[in-house]
Amino acid sequence: MQTHLLGCPRIGSNRELKKACELYWAGKASLQQLLETGEAISQNNWKIQQEAGIDLIPCNDFSYYDQVLDMTLSVGAIPERYKGIASEESYSELDLYFAMARGYQNNGLDITAMEMTKWFDTNYHYIVPEFRKNQQFTLFSDKIIREFIRARQSGINAKPVIIGLITYLLLGKEKEEGFDKLDLAQNLLPVYIEILKELERHGAEYIQFDEPFLALDLNEKAKETYKYIYGEIRKHFPDFKLIITTYFEGLKDNLSLASSLPADILHIDLVRCPEQLDNVLQAIPSTLSLSLGVVDGRNIWKNNFEKSLQWIKKASEELGPERVFIAPSCSLLHVPFDLDSETHEEVLSPEIKQWMAFAKQKIGEIAVLKKLASGNQDYHTLQLLAENRKALENRKISTLIHHQKVKDRASVTTEADAQRNNPFSIRKEIQQKALQLPLFPTTTIGSFPQTKEVRNWRAKFKKGELTAGHYDELLKKETEKTIRWQEKTGIDVLVHGEFERNDMVEYFGEQLSGFAFTQNGWVQSYGSRCVKPPVIYGDVHRPHPMTVYWSAYAQSLTSKWVKGMLTGPVTILQWSFVRDDQPRSLTCKQIALAIRDEVTDLEKAGIRIIQIDEPAIREGLPLRKSDWQIYLKWAVEAFRISASGVEDATQIHTHMCYSEFNDIIQNIADMDADVITIECSRSQMELLNAFADFKYPNEIGPGVYDIHSPRVPSKEEMVELLNKAQAVIPAQQLWVNPDCGLKTRHWDETEKALIAMVEAAREASREYVKREKLKNHRL
Ligand code: GLN
Ligand code: ZN
Repeated sequence: MQTHLLGCPRIGSNRELKKACELYWAGKASLQQLLETGEAISQNNWKIQQEAGIDLIPCNDFSYYDQVLDMTLSVGAIPERYKGIASEESYSELDLYFAMARGYQNNGLDITAMEMTKWFDTNYHYIVPEFRKNQQFTLFSDKIIREFIRARQSGINAKPVIIGLITYLLLGKEKEEGFDKLDLAQNLLPVYIEILKELERHGAEYIQFDEPFLALDLNEKAKETYKYIYGEIRKHFPDFKLIITTYFEGLKDNLSLASSLPADILHIDLVRCPEQLDNVLQAIPSTLSLSLGVVDGRNIWKNNFEKSLQWIKKASEELGPERVFIAPSCSLLHVPFDLDSETHEEVLSPEIKQWMAFAKQKIGEIAVLKKLASGNQDYHTLQLLAENRKALENRKISTLIHHQKVKDRASVTTEADAQRNNPFSIRKEIQQKALQLPLFPTTTIGSFPQTKEVRNWRAKFKKGELTAGHYDELLKKETEKTIRWQEKTGIDVLVHGEFERNDMVEYFGEQLSGFAFTQNGWVQSYGSRCVKPPVIYGDVHRPHPMTVYWSAYAQSLTSKWVKGMLTGPVTILQWSFVRDDQPRSLTCKQIALAIRDEVTDLEKAGIRIIQIDEPAIREGLPLRKSDWQIYLKWAVEAFRISASGVEDATQIHTHMCYSEFNDIIQNIADMDADVITIECSRSQMELLNAFADFKYPNEIGPGVYDIHSPRVPSKEEMVELLNKAQAVIPAQQLWVNPDCGLKTRHWDETEKALIAMVEAAREASREYVKREKLKNHRL
């Protein structure tokens, strides 16, 4: 029996990589310094694994920005627009690499970055390869080989980790018409072979090919390409021990394909899909070993040793222990580095901490599992097993986690709780009477600029350098200023600005029961950006109102409507580490009920328009299409539970960004929000087509300008976009708003943009009235 890892976190124990990269980008650190930081991080990862006794240790799992971009550079898939940089003497390979990741504005050049998108269903973002018809590839960067040599020199039994050829192609995007990216497999294969030859020459024995697409829906062509490519690789390298890894889903209908590939070891994710074990054990040929992903690489909970041991035992009995590998379910990139750096008991209580394991602890778990499974049970190991049992037992019965009232409430919610009193057609009229909004009402998405001062106040307040009273006063002034400015500018539906919030999930998590936070639980989101997701460990409820104070205060300042602002249950769930001892759908329902209480309290406090943001609803979609409807059913229901406690006259908004809506438009309509605001400006209203084709019944605010850019849009271009929108959506259904919250923008650009936006709405309205008159006249 052997142990291995698919990959390690690479930001360093203290986010060293983030700091080093940012200093380097700012010109404040040398290339040498950056490289030293990077090398120290992988050295440290190797050392931890070596000391834990892991048998096969990954190399090339480290990356300065993104492992897909690394591969793009390795195979020379460098888009044309960077060729100028590539040929410049003074630029290192890493400079070219960062230019591709982040764009390049220098020396009169202005080159856009490559696109970035989510890595499967994680919150990690990769850089999307760009492909052209007949694209040629060449071995451009020898990073993979360098990393292997470095690991070997450090005395590591290193296993190079490479993104499998098919997965690499499937992750990319065709940048011109008339070809299929899989057609490029032929051209790409020789470069893979070249890399493998170099690795062989330097003494590599094992190669790990990550092929997560093998666990997803595949068409015939992809399946054929899999067979062909791995057949070719095997022909060239009869002696390599090839590991093919799959994760985030089960092999399911691809099982016979996966087990027939000429590999030596197949890795499966038993955390996501435990039920596949039996089928896999039956299907794999005697030439294939099995790597069992038993330790959760996507979550922060301690492994259940007994459960894992059952799986390991079953596999050993069927295959013989020599054909069994023990591993985390996927790369540990998606969990924080080290639980031992959580030292403040006021932040993370010891009781909750004892249920958790970060990357370093998970490495330890893998090593212990091997000892336990191979009967090598010294006193210390047995003690660890007993401790593991005890922690799990304690979690099962902890009063921190379990609240009978919350469970009972969730278990008796019915269809009726997820229904407004009347359908939208009736609500619309009642709301129109109550709210008296003009045609093309203007609003914003919630946050206003979080200036340095605002951030400073919060930091000082948290450190105890500012009293609660003083902090409150400062935020009130900022809120009032924002309300006055919106009034003066003529915006129809105001917001309070969200100055009291740091992060849209953290803010609610901190006030809800059942959530814990960490000091150092950072996970890479993209490049140097890291996030620190809250941990949902127990039954969720709302001990007290969360936003009523700020919304009511803002509403008291003005006779215009102020929109209440909440984060929706699905987004809170999606952006947290979620408890694994009950279905996600149930946790989501508990959050929904807590938000529902907040919504009704806002209504009681006189707030007549309430927005429940759900930017993450689409990214929660399961990886297999056949599972979509089950997810969408409970996700949409959770939203509706949160939104349906109010009177017909109260208007519910929702907001979503970065979404392809086409394939889930029916479900978005099923959410039954009175108004939805969406991101649209970057696609020039193209996204709106989905709503138009579908005849979306409720009101829509397609974003008329891109808040991700400091650029101030002109009134004319926004009028133009509103005209485009009216071509497909009736004017009576349209709202006018930016495409997301404004918190990352500066005040001066925000002011200019919103003034222009209000003018654009007025002009669109005048033009509309004129057109209607003309029409009536003709009639
Ligand atoms: N109300 C939030 C804001 O304006 C919405 C943020 C989001 O969509 N991600 O900041
Ligand atoms: Zn948004």
